[in-house]
Parts: sequence; C-alpha cells; structure tokens
Amino acid sequence: MQTLRRTRILATLGPATDAPGVLEDLLRAGVDCVRLNFSHGDPAEQIARAERVRAASAAIGRETGILADLPGPKIRVERFESGKVELSAGQRFDLLAEADAPLGNAGFVGVSYLGLPGDVVAGDVLLLDDGMVQLQVEAIEGQRIITRVLNNSVLSNKKGLNKQGGGLSLGAVTTRDRELIEVAAKIGVDFIAVSFCRNADDMEEARAIARSHGSQAALVSKIERAEAITNLKEIIAASDVVMVARGDLGVEIGDAALPGLQKRIIREALAQDRIVITATQMLQSMVDSPLPTRAEVLDVANAVIDGSDAVMLSQETAAGHWPVQAVAAMARICVGAEENLAADTDYETAKRGLDRADQAIAMAAMFLTEHIGVGAIVALTESGGTARFLSRFRSRVPIFAFSNHADSRRRMRLMRDVFPVAFDSTGMQPREAARVAIKHLFDEGALEVGERLVFTSGEAMEQLGATNTLRLLVVDEAGNAAGLGEISPD
Ligand code: PEP
Repeated sequence: MQTLRRTRILATLGPATDAPGVLEDLLRAGVDCVRLNFSHGDPAEQIARAERVRAASAAIGRETGILADLPGPKIRVERFESGKVELSAGQRFDLLAEADAPLGNAGFVGVSYLGLPGDVVAGDVLLLDDGMVQLQVEAIEGQRIITRVLNNSVLSNKKGLNKQGGGLSLGAVTTRDRELIEVAAKIGVDFIAVSFCRNADDMEEARAIARSHGSQAALVSKIERAEAITNLKEIIAASDVVMVARGDLGVEIGDAALPGLQKRIIREALAQDRIVITATQMLQSMVDSPLPTRAEVLDVANAVIDGSDAVMLSQETAAGHWPVQAVAAMARICVGAEENLAADTDYETAKRGLDRADQAIAMAAMFLTEHIGVGAIVALTESGGTARFLSRFRSRVPIFAFSNHADSRRRMRLMRDVFPVAFDSTGMQPREAARVAIKHLFDEGALEVGERLVFTSGEAMEQLGATNTLRLLVVDEAGNAAGLGEISPD
C-alpha cells in the first residue's frame, strides 16, 4: 500500500500562483486546501482565483477546499509623501488618527483606526511592520499620539500596527468583513477565517452573517490577539477550525511565548474535537530559496508532532519564487514526521466523555484499530462528522470517508488522517455500501488482500449524524469485504 500523507497542507494563493500552470502543479505537489487572502486584491480577483482552483482541481481529478481569510480589524498606518521614511532611535514621531490626515513624512503619519488615541496610554509600546518599528507612546493630544522611536528603522506605506500585550478594543468583524463574507458566500467557499477574533461573540457574529447569505462554510478562528488567549476555550467552542496565527500573535505577545502557546492552542482545540491549523513563516526562507533551512524542517515536523491537522504556507506560495517546491518540501517533511508519531493508545481523548453515538463509534473504532491490527477505517459519512471524531484519535491508519456531498468532502480536506471519497449510496443497504466502497479502495490500490478493516455507518443511510454501527471486515482474494469471524494474532 502506498504511503499516504496524513497531515493536510493549506497554501495561500497570490501573484506567484497566478502564473499559468502553477496552480495545477501546486495541487499535484500536495495542496489540500487553498487560502484566498481577502486582505489583498478586490472581490473580482478572489472570484477569478476560486474559479481557477475549481478548474485545476477538475483537471487533476482531486477536490480542493477553499478558505476565505477575512482582513479583520488590522490597524495600518496610512501613506507617506515619499512612500517610506527612515526613523532614528530617540526621535519624536506622531500618529494622526484622523480620517483626512495628510500624507506622512519623517515627523508623522496617519493611522486607519480613529479610536486608537482612546486605546493607548503613555508608556505603551506600539509595534509596526511586525515589530520592525517600535514606538513608545509619550502623550495623547486629541487625535494625535505623540511617540518616541525606540529603534533605527524604516516605515513604509500601509504597514500594520499592533500594541504590545494587546488591548485594542476594536471588534473583529468590520463593515468590510461583512461585505467580504457575502463575497465568500457567493464564491461558495468551504471555510471562512475570522482575523483578530477576541471572543466567542465575534465568531458567532461571523457565523450568523455567513448563514444569512446562505453559506454553510466552516468558521475558522485565527488566534492572533492577546485577548484571544484569555478567551481561548470559548473561542474554540464557537469555532469549527482554529488557526495558530503565529505572525500577529508573536508581535502582540512576544516571540518567546509562541512555542508554549502553539502547543496549548493545539491541545485545547483537539480536546474540544476541533480541527487545528498551524500557520505563518513555516518555510519562510523558501520565498527566495529552493530548499528549506533545517530549522524550518524541524518547525514543520514539530507542528505535526504537536498534533496539527494542517500546516499553512503564506508568502512561500503567494509571492515566493519557489511555490511548488515549498509545497513539495512541506509534503515530504510531514510524511517524515508522521513516521515518528505514536498512536494514542491511552485514549486520553475518550476520558473526557462521549456525548454522541458517532463519537462513541469513533472511539470504539480506534480501540479496535490498535488492538486487533486494523489497516484502515472506512466511514460512510454525510456531513463529515464521523470523520471528524475518528480523526481526533491519533491512530496509525488512514480513514477513508465516503460521502455523497461535495461540500462535506471539501470540508474534510483539512482533517488529519482523513481521505474523502465521492460515493453515492442512495438506495443501498449498509452491507452493499460496504461491499462497493471496499472494492473501490481495493481497485485503487489503497487496500490489500487480507487487510482488516473497521467499517462505520448508520443503520439508516443518508442521515446526518446517524452513525451507530461498526463492523469488522477483511478484504478477500477478490477484493471484496468479508466479515471478520475469528481474530488470530498477526
Ligand atoms: C498570522 O498573523 O499569522 C496570520 C496567519 O494572519 P495573516 O497572514 O492574515 O496576517
């Protein structure tokens, strides 16, 4: 049986992937899901990219998930007369929070968030351009914030601004985000990511807007603000997917806190049966180089070992010189890391209790998988719910998730260990569905003669959340599923 990569790859699209042929090569190299970064470009550009993704997916015969990443309330400086200025440590530099601030110069620049003077006090440190420029607030005079520059640096148009330690009060879902959720719904994206969310209310607000436009997209919370760490459990509970957005998070809380937080966010997401993505600068040097650094290899591998469902590429694919090589590198590092993963035979996951029949079946499937040498799990799933529960247990076997719903299959493209398969079981009894599904996998080379399987389905087919049966099967000489009668040691 071929080695299947179990960790998913999410790649950001951008100018580098717009070149003819690149997108197809990217998908072939292993991208499971693409990110449309709504902070850049206009809706027409995003719509065109989504159409190209669908065409490329059809051309290579594999479905791809699409994630729309909302800009959120990212605070930015406005523009300068000459595009950028050089700042010297110790000089005064003012931020002007006015709607019609003039073009900036070496003495001041406008800021996009008019409420900023109310959110800062003397002594606060403001970090611009991901911390490359550091300003300390000295005084606030109306809409003018007087600061002292802390380091020699260059500041250019439209760079981002964060407050060290967090504490900016603006809400996560901006007017622009509301408009873009409608665009995302029109595109029919599978995931919508909420940037700079502070609490569960932000997630619920975004979800309600998406649903009001008819989108059933899964909601992704980007953990990138100090407040999100304070409210981590409730945000995760209100999300389908969680992203460790290390870029902005590292600016707000300091880079030294990131490793511990990455592990904590992943642990908490898995404890709540959520999907988790680790993101940002994973293979950053590959923007300019065809090979990753050893440190980057270790970073991706550690994110896999920490339990990430998916790892993300940003600049590397959106604007880098080696987008396809970056995906290929990520894929091989994931496979390498997966070889060292141990199965969760202590069933830590189950100790917190089982609330649903499909969750209980998933737990039982995983127990059997470890204890009687099962080679694969085959799940019939309408919404992908069973696949999600199965994939929360760390096993050593692939989960083939058969579903008749393309949107469910695309949402499963971010789940670790899950391999979605298109399957129409209309009119079939579970026994026949099992036979057809298993023969299909055998013919594809995914199962071998003698392989033991766990097969899960509902007694009543084509019903959401109805999985309540589990059967032990074995692949016979002809590739058909036979009941596993006797369990002899391997
Ligand atoms: C991040 O800050 O890490 C992140 C993923 O967000 P963005 O790339 O949108 O800045």
